[in-house]
Amino acid sequence: MTGSWGLVVAGALLAWMPAAAGALFVSRVALGRACRAPVFRRPTLVLESDDWGAGSLAQGQVLRAIADTLARHRDATGRHPVMNLALVLAVPDGPAIAADGVYRRVELDAPMLAPVLAALREGASRQVFSAQLHGHEHFWPPTLIASADSSVAAWLRQPPPADTERLPAHLQSRWADASRLPSVPLPAEQIRAAVDEEAAAYRRILGEPPRVVVPPTFVWTREVERAWAAAGVEFVVTPGLRSTCRNARGLPDGDEGPIVNGDRADGLTCLVRTDYFEPARGRDAAYALRALGKAVSEGHPCVLENHRDNFIFDADQAHRSLAELDALCAGALRQHPDLRFLSTVELGRIVRNRDPQWIVRPWRDRLPFVWQRLRHSGRPWKLMRLTGLAALGAVLVGLLGRRPEPPPAAAAS
Ligand SMILES: [Zn+2]
Repeated sequence: MTGSWGLVVAGALLAWMPAAAGALFVSRVALGRACRAPVFRRPTLVLESDDWGAGSLAQGQVLRAIADTLARHRDATGRHPVMNLALVLAVPDGPAIAADGVYRRVELDAPMLAPVLAALREGASRQVFSAQLHGHEHFWPPTLIASADSSVAAWLRQPPPADTERLPAHLQSRWADASRLPSVPLPAEQIRAAVDEEAAAYRRILGEPPRVVVPPTFVWTREVERAWAAAGVEFVVTPGLRSTCRNARGLPDGDEGPIVNGDRADGLTCLVRTDYFEPARGRDAAYALRALGKAVSEGHPCVLENHRDNFIFDADQAHRSLAELDALCAGALRQHPDLRFLSTVELGRIVRNRDPQWIVRPWRDRLPFVWQRLRHSGRPWKLMRLTGLAALGAVLVGLLGRRPEPPPAAAAS
C-alpha cells in the first residue's frame, strides 16, 4: 500500500514539474523585471510634467500657481515636492516660415517668451521645479515642412507661439520621420547634429547642461540615446519600454524592452515612470495615491507622469488640477509619513549608484518586495496560482524573507 502511494506522489510530482517549469518559462520576463529593478527602502515620490517651455504665455501664471501649491508641502526632511518639468525649447517662427518656406524657430529665451522663462527660473530658485530636456521642438521640423496636410502647413505658419498639442499625434514625435506612415528612421548624422544643437540651446537657456531627457511621445531609438550620451545627458525617462517608430496607423510601435530603473543603455541610465497624475483625464489625486501605495508595497519609487495641458487650456480645469495637486501632496505625506520627494536627477543618481542609503541590497530583504511585484504581474501571477507555485512561493517568502533594517540616520538628508 505504501509503495502504491509513493507511486501516486511520484506521478503527481512528475506531472506538476513540467507545468511549473512551463509557468516559470512563460513568466520569465515578469520574473526578470521583478528581480532586476532596485528595491527602495522608503516611499519616494517623483512628479514629472511634460511639454512646458516654448508655447502659450498662459504658462507663466500657472507655473507660479503650481510653485505656490508645491511650496505649501514639505517631507520629514523639509524638502518641498519637486515638479520635474520636461521643457520644449522652441516653437516655429510662423511668419518667417510663411515668407520663404524655410523652417525657423523662436526659442525659449526670445523676448516674447520672457514671462514663461522667468516663471521657470523662479520655481527653480524656490526649489520646487527641476528642468529636464524634452526636445528642441516637440516634432521633427523637416517632417512638418514636408507635410502635404494643409492644417499642418497652417499650424506651422501661424504667429508664435503655437501649441504643439494641436498637431496630429504622430507628428508630435521628434525622433522618427513620420511624414509617411509607417515612419522611417532618421539618418544618424541628422540625429547627432540635432542633439548637439538642442543640448547647446539647453545650456544657453538654462545655464547648465541637460542631465535628464524625456523623449517626446516616447518614440526614440538607440541611435538617439548614443547622441544624447555623447552630449552629456545622463538619464533617460521611459515608460518601461522603447517605442522605435510610428506604425501604419500612426501609433507608437517597434517596442524594445522591458526596461527597469537602473538599466544601462549606451552610457545612459534608464528611469521608469510608474503611473499617471492627469486630473484632466480622470487620473486625479485619489488615483495617483493608489498608484503610490502600490509602488510602495513593491519597493518602487513612484514616478508620476503629468502634462501641462492639465493646466493651460481651460481656467476651470486649471483650478481643479491645482486642487488635485495640493490633495496629492497632502495625501501622500499623510498616508506615508516617511515619504521623500525627489527630483528626477536625484532619483537617477540614487539608482545609478545603487546608493545603499536608499536601496535595499540583501536578497532576503528584497524578497517580500519582489514577491509583491509578482503578485501584481497579471497573467504570470495567474499561472503561478494555477500551478501551485504561488502557494509554494508564499511559504518560502514567509520563511526566508525579512523586512529591511531601518536606513542609517544619514539617509534622512
Ligand atoms: Zn510631450
